[in-house]
Amino acid sequence: MLKFTENIELSKLTSIGLGGRAKLFCECDTDDKLAECIKYADENKIPFYILGGGSNTVFSDNGFDGLVIKINIRGIQVHNEFRDNVILNAGAGEDWDALVKYCVESSYTGLECLSGIPGSAGATPIQNVGAYGQEVKDVIMFVKTLDRRTMKPVMFSNEDCLFAYRTSRFKTIDKGKYIVTNVMFRLKINGEPDIKYKELDDYIKTKTDLYRLKECKGKLETVRNAVIEIRKSKSMVLDPADADSRSCGSFFVNPLLKEDELQKLKAVYEEIPVFPAGQYFKISAARLIENSGFMKGFTKNGAGISSKHTLALVNKGCTAYDLIALADEISAKVYEKYGVKLEKEPVLAGF
Ligand SMILES: Cc1cc2nc3c(=O)[nH]c(=O)nc-3n(C[C@H](O)[C@H](O)[C@H](O)COP(=O)(O)OP(=O)(O)OC[C@H]3O[C@@H](n4cnc5c(N)ncnc54)[C@H](O)[C@@H]3O)c2cc1C
Repeated sequence: MLKFTENIELSKLTSIGLGGRAKLFCECDTDDKLAECIKYADENKIPFYILGGGSNTVFSDNGFDGLVIKINIRGIQVHNEFRDNVILNAGAGEDWDALVKYCVESSYTGLECLSGIPGSAGATPIQNVGAYGQEVKDVIMFVKTLDRRTMKPVMFSNEDCLFAYRTSRFKTIDKGKYIVTNVMFRLKINGEPDIKYKELDDYIKTKTDLYRLKECKGKLETVRNAVIEIRKSKSMVLDPADADSRSCGSFFVNPLLKEDELQKLKAVYEEIPVFPAGQYFKISAARLIENSGFMKGFTKNGAGISSKHTLALVNKGCTAYDLIALADEISAKVYEKYGVKLEKEPVLAGF
């Protein structure tokens, strides 16, 4: 039986704590309830928004004039252990960091650098969540979805998902078409953690010699703890006591430039650090923002830049309108100075 709540306060459902009210709200903990809920919305011609943990969503001050469907499909099952691999199935509503912790404690290698990221397991394929040298695309085997038009389950293999830096088919060509119900990961049992990110590697070296630890679990726990400590120092772990964590994490993705675009940028900003990324060149959005005059701690109308992380915009007592106005002001300045368009990472709903 579906249970609808009317006029729910959306600010309480997101990490940034913004937004008005939703006309209707329903939590779905099974695939069947999800299908029933969408059917209800379709039959009654009500627009709906799929919500996971709300850590990458900004709702408008006017709220959402429709149905917010919170995915609460739970469960973690070990499908198969084969040689040194494990296939793990997670319900889309599983808390992401709890899943990472479970893997670390089970000596399953592959997610440890993604510790401390808020949100749900089902949202991770949407923008190919990544941090500290790992991305979920490296370990996702299948994504099980519900096709919102046919109401039939559809499985996507890793290749089918068209993963790339902070994106996938679910954010691009098939935006809004599929709802993730389960994610299947292939992880290494007792695998060596692969530390690709220099800052993390340096930090771990100040604490311990990772490679002298014998147990995989100890190694993974060391990496997880280091990632969480670094993240905390940047307010990138949700903490009600840390006002700078009232955010969506990074508000802008790092731009990927083509060769000719990079050369244009270099003509005005020669020292910009460049990270080759396949056929593109990734550049630091934070550097562009700071060089455009927006420093950590900058605040306008209660919307601000985190005092510890230039990419995180923080609700310091603002409205959603103020927050987007600040984001747009930053983007406009960066574009004016460097000709580079900044892309917002969070999803804006009800605007
Ligand atoms: C402090 C902080 C730190 C962060 N650090 C990182 C980081 O290091 N790396 C990173 O990549 N991100 C980071 N984020 C962003 C965010 O945590 C991730 O994008 C996360 O995966 C969002 O999950 P969610 O369940 O909260 O998504 P939501 O905000 O609920 O939803 C985000 C989008 O996904 C869609 N969606 C959610 N669930 C489903 C589903 N089951 N099926 C289909 N669509 C769905 C929504 O409709 C929406 O479009 C951070 C956020 C915060 C607040």
